Amino acid sequence: MNSPIEVDFPDIRRWAAGNVGLPYVWSFPGADAGAHLCITALVHGNEVCGAIALDRLLPAFVSGGVRPHRGRVSFVFANVDAYLCFDRACPLASRALDQDFNRLWDAETLDGPRESRELTRARALRPFYDTVDHLLDLHSMTLPAPPIALAGTTDKGLALARALGMPRDILVDTGHAAGRRLRDYAAFADPDSPKSALLIECGQHWEAAVGDYATECAWRFLEHFDAVARPAGAARLEPPPAPERIIDITEVITVAPSGFVWARPVAGLETISQAGTVIATNGGKPVSTPHDEAILVMPALDAKPGTTAVRIGRARTHPS
Ligand SMILES: [Zn+2]
Repeated sequence: MNSPIEVDFPDIRRWAAGNVGLPYVWSFPGADAGAHLCITALVHGNEVCGAIALDRLLPAFVSGGVRPHRGRVSFVFANVDAYLCFDRACPLASRALDQDFNRLWDAETLDGPRESRELTRARALRPFYDTVDHLLDLHSMTLPAPPIALAGTTDKGLALARALGMPRDILVDTGHAAGRRLRDYAAFADPDSPKSALLIECGQHWEAAVGDYATECAWRFLEHFDAVARPAGAARLEPPPAPERIIDITEVITVAPSGFVWARPVAGLETISQAGTVIATNGGKPVSTPHDEAILVMPALDAKPGTTAVRIGRARTHPS
């Protein structure tokens, strides 16, 4: 069963024009030279939190009430056509139109012969993303779970996640077998490049607080790079005082051609204490936890063959 829809979906068509020649892309130069920061929403069309955040932030930038001190601050609504298809009766369907927009971000795919509506949008946005120095990509999750930062595998990704101060849980992960994510595109995932990216899963897709959380992450990202001052009246959300937890992914379970079935109910960020606990069958074979204190990260319901069913991780005892 789907989770209840507790948030309003903003009408983002007022942002369609953009101001850099790309629909739904807004960019604001700073007074001095500096890094190009970009906050992206709607990489997945039914993940409304980023759209709520951008819909709240953009008016101040467009009116000139907020101007970057330096560099450039940009906002992108990515898979808008999927978002505009959102149907409350079938709310998971608008994640994508033809294929997952967040599995396209390698040169081979972007330069290749495949065609889809997502690829068309990705190819249009690619030259713009090539100019971005630091990316914040706002997402949400199908199953209710505490927010999670996806830092990738580089030290710079982890440093950016820690610098924002929330979410508490930070995942060090390689992504998915089905294709490369935007947060791992080109220099973002190159340990020798100063460019960086962070993906934040802000909670369940449609829970009441998800837009507030995304908005707070957006402000923190801009403040971390000292790009703008948050307006005096803007809301501020304090993170829970729990210490951060860094989770290293130890196994990614990709759904076999003949399908994946959970052996028990599961929850996002659930910890299973005993190694060898059978949690599912994949292609008819049992899937068991590979070690004690196994953390289930974003278990998927009804995952299709070739996509990720779940990632299993372990908390780092000594953050480094
Ligand atoms: Zn997503």
